[in-house]
Amino acid sequence: MDYLKEKLTYEVCDYSKCWNWTGALRAGYGILNHGPEILVAHRLSYEIFCGGIPERKDDNKYVVRHGCDNPKCINPDHLLLGTQKDNMHDLVRYKIIRLQVLEDLEKEMSVFIEKSKKPKSQRDSEQDK
Ligand SMILES: [Zn+2]
Repeated sequence: MDYLKEKLTYEVCDYSKCWNWTGALRAGYGILNHGPEILVAHRLSYEIFCGGIPERKDDNKYVVRHGCDNPKCINPDHLLLGTQKDNMHDLVRYKIIRLQVLEDLEKEMSVFIEKSKKPKSQRDSEQDK
């Protein structure tokens, strides 16, 4: 376990915010080889720094979620335990936030583009009306 802890912190470049995994990735998530096993870095980080992932008797297994919506992050402060259902809610929530940001950006861009299309004299005269 100490070896793994060292390996986890060794791979990290910035301790202040998200701990972005700099090693291998699979589907956007950090992975590392441990003997014949392939471990998922953020799950391992949770297990080491937050005291393990409890077992569930039903099929609704615990997942380690990212409070920061950054799959590469292994900062234990950003990791939350939840169910697959919580994880799905996170995905939808983050998608909605991203869509809103994109929509706002698009609106701003179109206003800017419309303004810049017109010659300056026309822009001035429109203001007089
Ligand atoms: Zn993070």
